[in-house]
Amino acid sequence: MSAELPSIPAWEPVPGLYILATPIGNLGDITLRALAVLRSAALVACEDTRVTGKLLKHYGIKARLQRLDDHAPPEVRARVIDEARQGPVVLVSDAGTPLVSDPGYRLVREARAAGVTVTSIPGACAAVSALAIAGLPSDRFLFAGFLPVKDKARGEMLEGLAGVAATLVFYETAPRLVKSLHAIAGLWPEREVAVARELTKLHEECRTGTAAGLAAHYAAHPPRGEIVLLVGPPAEAEAPVQDTDTTLSPSALALSPLSRSSGGRAPRASPTPSTNAASSGWRRRWNACGRTTRRRARTSASTSSCLHRAASPPTSKTPGCRWADH
Ligand code: SAM
Repeated sequence: MSAELPSIPAWEPVPGLYILATPIGNLGDITLRALAVLRSAALVACEDTRVTGKLLKHYGIKARLQRLDDHAPPEVRARVIDEARQGPVVLVSDAGTPLVSDPGYRLVREARAAGVTVTSIPGACAAVSALAIAGLPSDRFLFAGFLPVKDKARGEMLEGLAGVAATLVFYETAPRLVKSLHAIAGLWPEREVAVARELTKLHEECRTGTAAGLAAHYAAHPPRGEIVLLVGPPAEAEAPVQDTDTTLSPSALALSPLSRSSGGRAPRASPTPSTNAASSGWRRRWNACGRTTRRRARTSASTSSCLHRAASPPTSKTPGCRWADH
């Protein structure tokens, strides 16, 4: 079998900042365009030079690396932005899409403010990959980042999200999974929940059920690896659909303007007052940029439990992920 990759349109290196997604486990999950951009990069800014160094070595790419996270002093970001005026500068995180519970927000904002072109080189993202296989309603979802570690803060955050008529997507760690499932079971015993674990890797699984059922399973079989936790939307009977602008206001979610759980941005409320969408059979839909649109209300379809294994074995384990933004 030929090992040759299909060709892609020639890419002339153009100055600017490139926000480039890397694999979340399976090293095959990188785009041809991402490889072409990495090959021509004047500089690759990354969370951890060892992790990115290994990744680039795997693809036979040599590049100048610069450690950069959102704790980096402003001068470092300013230098990177200056370099992006001269040639292609790439930002990667340890795994997946930069800025999604990963560094990059400040760099992107400052680059845009400085008039530098910012280009997306999309690819793997654990939240979207989990949503795609969980069988939960996917027409509306709210990515809420990591749940807080402390019980009280976790409970408050979940309560703040109670009325959101969308599938909730959280990042979670293996040691905290059972506690979080208990917290969800206490608030929403009927909701359908999914645990997507080790996506794209050898032991990939996606298990669905009630939060209590999943808590019992994972208490008996302590999970390992990386996890996305999803919670289906409320059934009509559980909670009347609230005014989404109010539900998602930063104060209702107890988020600071640079909250970790929102990937650096607190959701912005729409400036226009909303009407009672539920009573008219329409709900407001909130999307990532804070705009709302209307969609006809629908109830969530129930799905049965599933266990999903990766179709092909990964070529390596995901480089260690850590949360480093803000
Ligand atoms: N930027 C990344 C992305 O695009 O998904 C996320 C980085 S965040 C620091 C790391 C968290 O993402 C992990 O703690 C886990 O919750 C989730 N995650 C990353 N890789 C995963 C995988 N292969 N399977 C399941 N969850 C994963």
